[in-house]
Order: sequence, then C-alpha cells, then structure tokens
Amino acid sequence: MSDNVDDSQAAEAKSRQAAIDTVRYRPRGLGPDMSDGTPRCRECGDEIPAARLAGVPDAERCLACQEDLEQEPEPTPEQE
Ligand SMILES: [Zn+2]
Repeated sequence: MSDNVDDSQAAEAKSRQAAIDTVRYRPRGLGPDMSDGTPRCRECGDEIPAARLAGVPDAERCLACQEDLEQEPEPTPEQE
C-alpha cells in the first residue's frame, strides 16, 4: 500500500520537475516581438528569419540591429 503511495508521489515529483525544467531552460530575454504572429525585430520591426531564431530562439533583434548594437562604439565623454 505504502509502495503505491510512494510510486504516485515519485511520478508527481517527476512531472513537477519536468515542468520546472521547461521553465528553467526556457531562453532568457523577451524574444522577438510576436504581437502580429510573426517574429519581428524589437528594434526596426523587420521579420526575424527562422534560421536566426533556430540558432538564437530568444533573439530580440534582427541580425542587422544586433550587429549595430554590438558594434556600438564606446561612448566618448568629451570630443573636440
Ligand atoms: Zn532590426
């Protein structure tokens, strides 16, 4: 009898852990803008290619905007 209880508790714990893993391993970040059902760049609104999303599921920007962001020069405090 107690074995049955243990089994069901183990099964429950297992499915709970699976649910936790799903959340835990979900990509961080907002991801693309999906407001119209199409993954779009949050910067320029262009559609993000499926190939990019396959590699970066939580990409928030298209490749062009992402490169822009990464190549942004260090802010120069004073320039004459
Ligand atoms: Zn963009």
